Amino acid sequence: MTPWPDAITDHAASGVLEIRWSGGEVSRLPHRLLRANCRCAGCEQQRRRPDATVPPPDPAVRLHAIHPVGDRGLNLVFDDGHGRGIFPWPYLHELGAREVPQPGS
Ligand SMILES: [Zn+2]
Repeated sequence: MTPWPDAITDHAASGVLEIRWSGGEVSRLPHRLLRANCRCAGCEQQRRRPDATVPPPDPAVRLHAIHPVGDRGLNLVFDDGHGRGIFPWPYLHELGAREVPQPGS
């Protein structure tokens, strides 16, 4: 089943994008996690090079804007200039499933 969002809430102060899926599941995606998995052409290209070391994003990076892309997913614009990546729903759902709460936080 293709994950489908019921509600999208951007908690700008804490830097978390919250997606409530149609099944009732909730993904809380820190902005820096989304940025670390940026889908813009530059980042995709960097990740494809096996010898490349991708520097981790600045932990202070924040989402600057969120644009829906038809029924495909979201175009996420970050405040460090990475603004052309399209994040399909299944990709966002997978990122949410991968993110586990950090102990002590
Ligand atoms: Zn990028």
